[in-house]
Amino acid sequence: MDDTSVLVTGGAGFLGSHLCDRLVAAGHDVLCIDNFYTGSRRNVAHLLGKANFELSRHDVTFPLYVEVDRIFNLACPASPVHYQFDPVQTTKTSVHGAINMLGLAKRVKARLLQASTSEVYGDPEIHPQREDYWGRVNPIGTRSCYDEGKRCAETLMFDYHRQHALEIKVVRIFNTYGPRMHPNDGRVVSNFIVQALKGDEITIYGDGQQTRSFCYVDDLIEGMLRMMDSPAEFVGPVNIGNPGEFTMLELAELVLKLTGSRSKLIFKPLPADDPKQRCPDIGLAGEKLGWAPTVALEDGLKPTIAYFKGVLGV
Ligand code: NAD
Ligand code: UDP
Ligand code: UDP
Repeated sequence: MDDTSVLVTGGAGFLGSHLCDRLVAAGHDVLCIDNFYTGSRRNVAHLLGKANFELSRHDVTFPLYVEVDRIFNLACPASPVHYQFDPVQTTKTSVHGAINMLGLAKRVKARLLQASTSEVYGDPEIHPQREDYWGRVNPIGTRSCYDEGKRCAETLMFDYHRQHALEIKVVRIFNTYGPRMHPNDGRVVSNFIVQALKGDEITIYGDGQQTRSFCYVDDLIEGMLRMMDSPAEFVGPVNIGNPGEFTMLELAELVLKLTGSRSKLIFKPLPADDPKQRCPDIGLAGEKLGWAPTVALEDGLKPTIAYFKGVLGV
């Protein structure tokens, strides 16, 4: 057991709640803060009785004065539907949130891990994406509030590191799925599973030939924890994701097979700036963290489908 005190921002969200589970189980003193914009108390309700867990409503765009040893900064809506609902707030969350967490980390000399994203690569020209690729992001499009907000957060992390010798860790997370995704999250895995379970039409955007690489949540959290514990000189950025690459049509077929659903596929317009392909090069995570994903898509979809059956009561 370890009594390091750890702050998790966005801790009541999908990834944050799984991270809190692991940190609480390891015996850390965990402070979870969230403004419940897309997260929910339900995701951490099972932790509320634990002596080493505390939940507090707070918006990261406002300063936060606490004493902690480590900070995981996850606060930010992650699904296009949610981050585009109030784009100005999305950029503020990434940028002002990063500044506040960096200021806090500087004052208390905490190590800070930033949850960045594969979206910093935009609609990429190289494949798979390596960390030294600078990306192709539209600065003024409808996805920019998220992409550019996260890119600016990375810039701030590296400038505080160079200017104030702050201990930083940057992980670029690729599409991750699993239990506790919100049924109305809007991302493709939750959409397809919910539609299949309800017998509704499966909504394929565009021709369904665009690709994504899907990482099961347990693998992702293991990668984040290893990054936080890695030697101080390794600051990243490091890709964390599963390189198994699937078209959206392949994903739809797999979900239909695993749910036994007879839902029909329908085609809808492709959203603006939707990346055509995405797949992580995870060589660096393997070399520096000894990390690689262990859960194949089909194996990870099973517990995810079981979770949604429980939520939907079907
Ligand atoms: P999520 O929406 O479930 O979680 C985000 C959490 O942040 C929610 O609980 C939300 O209420 C909270 N939040 C939002 N704005 C806030 C604010 N201003 N102050 C305090 N809390 C705020 O999404 P997630 O999938 O768990 O994503 C967590 C982090 O991981 C995000 O930073 C996201 O950008 C990053 N990420 C996720 C994925 C993925 O596939 N899940 C991929 C790349 C990056
Ligand atoms: N900050 C915070 N908690 C702290 C220390 C700082 O939220 O414990 C915020 C503070 O409000 C400031 C930001 O972090 O807006 C950046 O702090 P820093 O010290 O880097 O900059 P400065 O205060 O000099 O602008
Ligand atoms: N998508 C889809 N149907 C849906 C939701 C998403 O075909 O109901 C597509 C979307 O256009 C994108 C891919 O699935 O090409 C992944 O979308 P998601 O929002 O999950 O993640 P991101 O685009 O941020 O990688």
